[in-house]
Amino acid sequence: MRILFLSLMLAPPAWGWWCEGHEMVALIAERHLNPNALAAVTALLKSQPVDPSVQRFCKDIPKDLMADASTWADDTKKPEQTGTWHYMDLPLGMKRGELAPYCQPVGPSVNGGARTGCILSALRYNLNILHDDKESDGERAKALRYLIHLVGDMHQPLHTTANNDQGGNCVPIQFFSEPKTANLHSVWDGMILNRDMAAKARTITQMADDLDREYQKQAESWTKHGTEFEKWIWEGHRLAQKVTYGDLQPRIPVEAYEEHPDCKAESAKDGALHLRVDEEYQRKAAPVIEEQIVKAGYRLAEILNEVWP
Ligand SMILES: [Zn+2]
Repeated sequence: MRILFLSLMLAPPAWGWWCEGHEMVALIAERHLNPNALAAVTALLKSQPVDPSVQRFCKDIPKDLMADASTWADDTKKPEQTGTWHYMDLPLGMKRGELAPYCQPVGPSVNGGARTGCILSALRYNLNILHDDKESDGERAKALRYLIHLVGDMHQPLHTTANNDQGGNCVPIQFFSEPKTANLHSVWDGMILNRDMAAKARTITQMADDLDREYQKQAESWTKHGTEFEKWIWEGHRLAQKVTYGDLQPRIPVEAYEEHPDCKAESAKDGALHLRVDEEYQRKAAPVIEEQIVKAGYRLAEILNEVWP
């Protein structure tokens, strides 16, 4: 979730996996924490609760500390000035290479403006805080909330890929017979997952249970080498090329990278393609989204188990 945050706030509450997806990631991670990590995470989140004055967007949060923590970072982007921490615009079509040109180090807010940083530098920054016993519990709880959220975001392919379109935010697309035109980013943030859950008649908790069980066999290979942020970013980026953009009909042409793309112009160009999400696209995308959510859950657990072995 990023640019279209405000307009999505006005959308029906059923839209936005950013509640469902993030909460599932947290619920799955929680089951795979070692006892030490689970105790530490629980103690930290309990002793340093979310400021009650923060407006929480996700209303149906399961009664679970980690699930509740998972969406805090989206609710506080503005006051915390951390909007840039949630993504990284790797150009569509880019092969493996240096990530540094696309990611600024985390910096302070200057004159109330946004802090610098991208999802990679922000993850490293917050992980360092969590590892540092000299940091206050308040700072470490905040860092933990960022980790729980950003590991989820990192596994949404459009949070690590863009085609001069702000991670698909500037790509109009018709989602089945929805009366309002959607955009590719929101389709991947929530619409596909919500349709998937509705078809399976699953709640957030039930879906997390199912996914955890279904993907158990693959899970070991996802965390074999510990925390590998860069590798995980490339994985998501490849999925964006292959499925998110790759399975669109017609295909959107791959553009040359622009540092400050024009969203309006992009919307007009992509709008002329009359893109649609139909049964076929849903059938290809839903399993990818499911797997990314479980992966994020297992990997988040791995990170926290490394902090509290
Ligand atoms: Zn986010």
